Amino acid sequence: MARTIIEPFRIKSVEPIRWTTREEREQLLRAAHYNLFLLPADDVLIDLLTDSGTGAMSTHQWAAIMEGDESYAGSRSFDRFRNSVQDIFGYRHVIPTHQGRAAERILFSVMCKKGDIVPNNTHFDTTRANVEFVGAEAVDLVIEEGKHPSVVHPFKGNMDVGALETVINRVGRERIPLVMLTVTNNSGGGQPVSMENVRAVSAVCRKNRIPLYFDACRFAENAYFIKLREKGYESKTPKQIAQEMFSYGDGCTMSAKKDGMANIGGFLCTNDELLAQQEKNLLILTEGYPTYGGLAGRDLEAVAVGVQEALHEDYLRYRIHSTAYLGNHIAEHGVPIVQPPGGHAIYLDARAFLPHIPPDQFPGVALAAELYLEGGIRSVEIGTLMFGAAAKMDLVRLAIPRRVYTQSHIDYVVEVILEVWKKREQIQGLRLSYEAPFLRHFTARLEPVGVPITPTLASS
Ligand SMILES: *Cc1c(COP(=O)(O)O)cnc(C)c1O
Repeated sequence: MARTIIEPFRIKSVEPIRWTTREEREQLLRAAHYNLFLLPADDVLIDLLTDSGTGAMSTHQWAAIMEGDESYAGSRSFDRFRNSVQDIFGYRHVIPTHQGRAAERILFSVMCKKGDIVPNNTHFDTTRANVEFVGAEAVDLVIEEGKHPSVVHPFKGNMDVGALETVINRVGRERIPLVMLTVTNNSGGGQPVSMENVRAVSAVCRKNRIPLYFDACRFAENAYFIKLREKGYESKTPKQIAQEMFSYGDGCTMSAKKDGMANIGGFLCTNDELLAQQEKNLLILTEGYPTYGGLAGRDLEAVAVGVQEALHEDYLRYRIHSTAYLGNHIAEHGVPIVQPPGGHAIYLDARAFLPHIPPDQFPGVALAAELYLEGGIRSVEIGTLMFGAAAKMDLVRLAIPRRVYTQSHIDYVVEVILEVWKKREQIQGLRLSYEAPFLRHFTARLEPVGVPITPTLASS
C-alpha cells in the first residue's frame, strides 16, 4: 500500500491562527464590503489569498540570514546569491531586484519599444502591464487545451508553436524583441510547460534570431511536473531538469517570492553583455547598486538558499501532491475545478459552481465570500471583478503558501468547500457599490443583490 506523503519537515516555530465565530465573520465581511482584500489578515483563519512571499523559511535560510553582508558594494552575500542562481539557471549575468515586476520593468524598458510585440504562453498580469507600459503589445499564445478549464492535458501551459511562427511571419522578427515562456503558467491555472515544448519554442526563436526569456517564478514546480509526466525525465533530478530547461533560453525574470522560497526578492538574468550593462544602469537609477538591487544582504542570502531548497525532491513531492490532494478531494464530490490541479493553487470554476448567478453579479466574489463566512478561509476571485466584461471565466483561486499549512489544514479546507457546495443554491450574487478607475478588484465594495441599495455607498 502506498504510504501517506507527509510534510518533509518538522515545526520549530509556530504562528497562532485565530478563530472567529460565524456572527463575527458576518460582521467582518460586511465591514469589508464583501471584498476579502479589505479584511484584516488577523481575522482570517487559513489564508490562501496568494502563494507569493507567504512561504515559511527553513532553518538553513534563517541561519544564512544571520550571515548577511550588508556592504553597499561587493557584498559577500551577492556572491553567494549569484553563484547559487548561476548553478541552476546558468546565465552569465545575474541582476538582483526587489521582486519580479522590477525585473520585468527593467527587461522590457531595455528591450522593447512602441509597436513591438512580445509573445508569451500567457502573460502574468504584471508582465502584461509592464510590456504595455513601454508601448509594446503582449500576445498570449497558449495551446487550445489551456483555454478550457475541464480539459485534462499533462502540459496545459504549453505555447502553440504554430501560432508563434504565424505571428513571427506576419509581423516580422524585427518587431519581436523577445519571446517569453512562463513556467508554470500562472494565469493559465499553474499549468506546466513540457521540455519538448521549450525545445520547440527555442528552435523557432533561434531560427529567427529572437531571444527567448523565461518568466521563471515557478520553475521548480514546472521541473517536477516534467519529471512526473514527460518521457525520458523520470530518473533526472529536478535540478538537472531545470538546468536543461534554462539552457534553451537566453535569460529570465524571477520573483523569489514564489520558488525562491523567500518573503521578498527577485532577479533578472541575461547572457547578453550589452543588455546587462543597460539593465544595470537602469537598476542603479531606480532599484540600487548591482550587488544588492533593492534588497538587503540578508534577503540575498535567503534567496540563495531558497532556490536550491525549492528543487529538493521530497519538498516538491509534498508540494505537488498536497495541492492535488485538495483538488482531487473536492472534485470527487462534484465540485468543478480547473483540471488537472496545478502546482501552486486550485481554481474553483465559480460559473459552474453557482450557475444561478450571472457573471455580472460576480459569482467568484460571492463564492469567495461564502468560503470565508463558512470557515474563515480567504481566497481570491479571478474573473469579472478583476477583468470586467473581458473575463472569459469566473474562478476562485486557492493558492497554497509554501511549507505553511499541514494536511489537517487542507482537510479542513476540503470540509469547508464541501459544506458550501451543499448550500450553493442559497448563495446570492453581488453588485458593486464602489469601484476605482483601474485595478478595481483591490478596493471594490460590494453588497448582496437582495439588499436594497444603500444611497450613500451607491453614490460614493
Ligand atoms: C508573481 C509573478 C510575477 C511578478 O512577481 P512579483 O514578485 O509579484 O512582482 C511575474 N510573473 C509570474 C508568473 C508571477 O507568478
